[in-house]
This record gives sequence, structure tokens and C-alpha cells, in this order.
Amino acid sequence: MDARKEKTQPPHSRKLVILDRDGVINADSDQFIKSPEEWIAIPGALEAIARLNQAGYRVVVASNQSGIGRGLFDMVALNAIHTKMHRAAATAGARIDAVFFCPHTAEDRCECRKPKSGLLEEIARRYELSLSGVPIVGDSLRDLQAGVPLGCDPHLVLTGKGRKTLAHGNLPPHTQVHDSLQAFALDFLAAGQD
Ligand SMILES: [Mg+2]
Ligand SMILES: [Zn+2]
Repeated sequence: MDARKEKTQPPHSRKLVILDRDGVINADSDQFIKSPEEWIAIPGALEAIARLNQAGYRVVVASNQSGIGRGLFDMVALNAIHTKMHRAAATAGARIDAVFFCPHTAEDRCECRKPKSGLLEEIARRYELSLSGVPIVGDSLRDLQAGVPLGCDPHLVLTGKGRKTLAHGNLPPHTQVHDSLQAFALDFLAAGQD
């Protein structure tokens, strides 16, 4: 029996990948992504999701969208942004199963704004599985921190705020670093092969 192989199996048996949105799937903006026009996919990101799907992984998004709480855009705009995202994904042969988002600002003291774990707990409930060993991919420290209490595997990408996040340090233990979502998908799927 190969102990190392046995140890790496549980994460892949769950077949779920959780992604942050801004700075991971699409280019981030300090001015917030407020309209479909401002939502621009990072090159290779949708193809990476397609690759994960082809390997049998469901891909879900967990995203802080405090622009809603700040009144910068409304639910109609957010839905339109996500319609564009889903259409662009479909064009690339990719499917994003669901988008979980927090509309609050830090002042709201909600339980869903990352680094809190509420969004991830919602995902665990919706999919009826433990998120232990499930990869969470983000460009900000708080994306990775949100997964720590649930035992998610932290993956930092260097797109968006990723380089700044890496330079700042204090990453959760065992954080893996990838150039982009595309690099994550290649690394992650290669690691999962026998
Ligand atoms: Mg981000
Ligand atoms: Zn919230």
C-alpha cells in the first residue's frame, strides 16, 4: 500500500473546487466590477475551469461583493455580471455550478464576508459534503483564511492582488502558490493523477 497515494485521495474524491471571482477568474479593479462591461476574463481562466470540469470537478465561486452594501451597484447589475460570466464560461466549454456571494460591508459584521467562513459553510450545506481537503483558490489572504476552519486546501494565484498577497506573507500553512488559475488547474490535476 502506498501511504502517500492514500493520503492524497480524499481531496480528489470530493470533486469540488472553490474559486474566488475577482482577480482569479476576471481582472480585478480597485473601483469594483460594477457592470458586465467591466467584467473581463483573465486569459486562460475559463479554459482552466473547463479543464477542471472535464476531469469531473464541479466549480463554485465564493465572492465578497461589498459594492452592493456600499451602494455602488445593485443585484440587477450583479446578476447581469454573472450572466455574462456564465455565458463566457459556456463559450469556453466551462461550467460554473453556482455563485455564492456576500453583499455586505465590513461594518455589517455578517458571518459571510471572507475571511469569515459563512459562504463556505453554505457551500458545504448545499453540496452536503465536508470541505476538508477541498481546494480554495484566491488572490487575497482572506480567501484562504476563510477556508482554514473548514480544512480547505489553500491555493494562492498571483493574478489580481496575488503578488501583493504573497509579498505580505502570513499565508495559512501549506498554501500552494500558482501563477494563475490556469497554472493551478494544470498543477492540481497533475497532482491528482496516479
Ligand atoms: Mg479576489
Ligand atoms: Zn456577508
